[in-house]
Amino acid sequence: MENQTGYFPQLNAKRAEAHQADRLPNKPVVDPVPVLVNRDHPVSENAADTESRLAFVGSCPGIRVLDDRIRLDTLCLERLNALLEAVNGKNDIVIVSGYRDLAEQTEIYSSSLRDNGSEYTAKFVALPGCSEHHTGLAVDVGSAAGGLNFIAPDFPDEGVCGAFKARAAEFGFVQRYKAHKEHLTGISCEPWHFRYVGASHAALMEEHDLCLEEYTERLRHTEEQNGADFHGK
Ligand SMILES: [Zn+2]
Repeated sequence: MENQTGYFPQLNAKRAEAHQADRLPNKPVVDPVPVLVNRDHPVSENAADTESRLAFVGSCPGIRVLDDRIRLDTLCLERLNALLEAVNGKNDIVIVSGYRDLAEQTEIYSSSLRDNGSEYTAKFVALPGCSEHHTGLAVDVGSAAGGLNFIAPDFPDEGVCGAFKARAAEFGFVQRYKAHKEHLTGISCEPWHFRYVGASHAALMEEHDLCLEEYTERLRHTEEQNGADFHGK
């Protein structure tokens, strides 16, 4: 019962569900396999290699940035720009944070410990070396009307921010840290933090309500089941 045409078999039949629930189809995706970075999976790529792919976010006409030095992976930036244009969000949404090197994450972590305490910091700030921001594929966005707190910018579900969230997957982005996945991600709900994974992966993750921890595990499992050579980045 392999699914050849869609992303994932329909799971409405109980029998199919039992058989397929933890599998993903063999060759459904066109984007590279997304890299998992979390407290148990520190970033492994050399920073110089990552930085060779970065571009300044402010180089995109009309995009508002909290800091001119914010950079993102060029593909992530191109899709972010397209998403902002699609929701007509360039005036109302500000890019608050993008790529961070180890030194910057260390500084953010220490200053948050100092200013906000250990409980808050553990909830919202990844350990240096374990932040998705090291990949250049994670972006924090804030409502221009919301005061732009650097660690936890306001990003409501309504209005243009809501439209951004609703269409994010179409452009390859997922809200990385959701409330009901905290036990898996180790990070509290962050409505402002979006991770670029590519539209094909984002569609699957949204459709099946999988966080990246669950999704990459499913991909691995599917690879084992299928004997597929699935070694994309
Ligand atoms: Zn973030």
